Amino acid sequence: MTAVHSTRMLILGSGPAGLSAAIYGARAGLSPIVVQGIQPGGQLTTTTDVENYPGYREVIQGPWLMEEMQAQAEHVGAQMMWDTIVEVDLSERPFRLKGDGGATYVADTLVIATGAQAKWLGLESEQKLRGQGVSACATCDGFFFRGKKVAVIGGGNTAVEEALYLTNHSHDVTLIHRRDTLRAEKILQERLFKHHGITVLWNKEVAEFVGGEGNEGLVALDLRDTRTGEISRLDVEGGFVAIGHHPATELFKGHITLDADGYIQVKPGTSLTNVPGVFACGDVMDKVYRQAITAAGTGCMAALDAERFLQQQDYPVPEDAEMEPAE
Ligand code: FAD
Ligand code: NAP
Repeated sequence: MTAVHSTRMLILGSGPAGLSAAIYGARAGLSPIVVQGIQPGGQLTTTTDVENYPGYREVIQGPWLMEEMQAQAEHVGAQMMWDTIVEVDLSERPFRLKGDGGATYVADTLVIATGAQAKWLGLESEQKLRGQGVSACATCDGFFFRGKKVAVIGGGNTAVEEALYLTNHSHDVTLIHRRDTLRAEKILQERLFKHHGITVLWNKEVAEFVGGEGNEGLVALDLRDTRTGEISRLDVEGGFVAIGHHPATELFKGHITLDADGYIQVKPGTSLTNVPGVFACGDVMDKVYRQAITAAGTGCMAALDAERFLQQQDYPVPEDAEMEPAE
């Protein structure tokens, strides 16, 4: 027989948003269950140095920070489940969700903190060579390219950080950007431009990832000049795509309101979605700030909003009264 888990508060996602909601939910006595998904700890587990999370004078490591957050959530009473939700039914309360192993979750409130997933360029050759030289995570795969020529595609914070990180493994790193200015923070740009091991190619996009003979994997990138259309070849054995992330909301299409870019819509200044009892926090509802600290902050809001919602259910208010967010 498959397991049934019932809870006052079900949290989907174990990044900074989900774990912060778990800490607040547990401290409110709601014994939350956190379904961790395929990336326990979320996006920060794919990076190294974190310098902007408040409270730490020294540089800390992303995976370490997430381990600490999980330990704190468990310490105050949250329960972690090694599972991924594959089906949701939000048509009535309690909500019913299914995990990929068949377990059922029955929840009075739902906090969605499923974050975001890496974007790909969408080329067939990219798909074919994924895992054979093409990656979206330098901190995960950089080690495999020790002493080899590598390239990073993108112009945001992630791309610049990935390029800098790769210099730990390679003396020949190229950053390829489609425009002539970077989107990354100035402090990161300065580090990038100062680094002798990094070359920046401006106004270039990848036309094709080029594979070698047999199982050789990636051997080069064919680049298109975005102004002239001219194609040139860059020999590299590693190609790291760092062009941003998509909100992980596929599961909720047709169940809650998403905006045109697929982000969950919340009532401004709150974590309330259009479905009473369902709250959203972190990168899945925020396309502007997308930081660990903002994810943690909105995770706190979601737990407080859910707690307030449950209180209102226990002491019913008139049906036409609009629910207000927690104070
Ligand atoms: P995420 O961290 O994306 O976590 C999402 C969680 O949802 C994961 O645990 C996943 O497994 C889970 N999930 C997804 N689908 C399901 C499902 N169906 N069922 C159950 N669970 C599911 N920010 C900073 O402030 N400082 C930095 O230095 C910094 N560096 C970064 C470096 C990199 C390489 C990247 C990619 C991002 C960086 N960021 C940084 C941004 C920061 O990581 C994100 O803003 C933050 O992680 C968002 O947190 P989140 O909890 O909303 O989502
Ligand atoms: P991002 O800021 O959205 O930047 C994406 C980059 O990829 C942009 O430069 C964009 O080019 C480029 N790009 C997008 N689609 C492309 C395509 N099809 N082909 C070629 N290039 C393409 O994404 P991000 O860098 O992953 O950052 C996401 C969020 O996480 C941001 O809010 C960021 O601040 C945060 N973050 C923070 C840190 C930190 O604080 N240290 C580190 C990493 C990430 P254009 O510029 O031309 O649009």
